[in-house]
Amino acid sequence: MNIERVLANNPGPFTGPGTNTWVLDDGQGRVVIIDPGPVDTRHAKAIVEAIEGREVQSVLVTHTHSDHAPLANPLARDLGVPAVGHAPGPNFEPDIRLLDGARLDVGSLELRVIQTPGHADDHLCFRAGNALFTGDHIMGGSSVMVEDMGSYLTSLEKLRGTGLERLHPGHGDEMGDPDSVIDWYLAHRMQRHEEILAAISSGADTVPDIVAVVYADVHPSLHPLAARSVQAHVTLLSDQGRIALAGDRVVAVPVTDERTHTNP
Ligand SMILES: [Zn+2]
Repeated sequence: MNIERVLANNPGPFTGPGTNTWVLDDGQGRVVIIDPGPVDTRHAKAIVEAIEGREVQSVLVTHTHSDHAPLANPLARDLGVPAVGHAPGPNFEPDIRLLDGARLDVGSLELRVIQTPGHADDHLCFRAGNALFTGDHIMGGSSVMVEDMGSYLTSLEKLRGTGLERLHPGHGDEMGDPDSVIDWYLAHRMQRHEEILAAISSGADTVPDIVAVVYADVHPSLHPLAARSVQAHVTLLSDQGRIALAGDRVVAVPVTDERTHTNP
């Protein structure tokens, strides 16, 4: 198996150095393309050049965000292969839809589909041997914007202790020692969770207020993105019964709940 990266020309605060398009080869000239990225003629050309006449079997997307999926349909059409993902999205219409546990054969190589909702509802990771293509579930060198915190944490736990050896993220460099990386992500999220609860306890009662406290050391241009993760933490805190919500206002729940007195 060979794995090559083609870096898209879309660097930025949300994409790091740009989107990683991965070309996975079974070692015998059959390949799949993972996360072709945004529609960009130069990047499409770079991908086709990287393939160098090998036989492409499909174009896969980890999720349908605009920095990962929009090139999938046009590129797949040009190459005469199916575009494959979990579900339709704003700029993506899968020819084949994948569910958790699905198997894709890339020539002699077996690719396993692992559903990992959290960063996005429709997020998939792809496993080949002990290598995992993580999309934006796990990124090289940064934490991830999370839409659904409960699902996200479950999706991290799901990968832990499964014998992975390499992570190939949607942004940033590939990583070794996946379980340590996953532990860092879990610990980072738990720390944020407690920081957000502490901010609420000390009077921050809207998402922007919480962001201003918890992300004080992060550049304001990233605050709208942070707000989405904070919202996900707030929803999880509410689901956990640790805070209450009154419309957009967050209300801290006193540590001593009166039910504990009446229902021992
Ligand atoms: Zn991304």
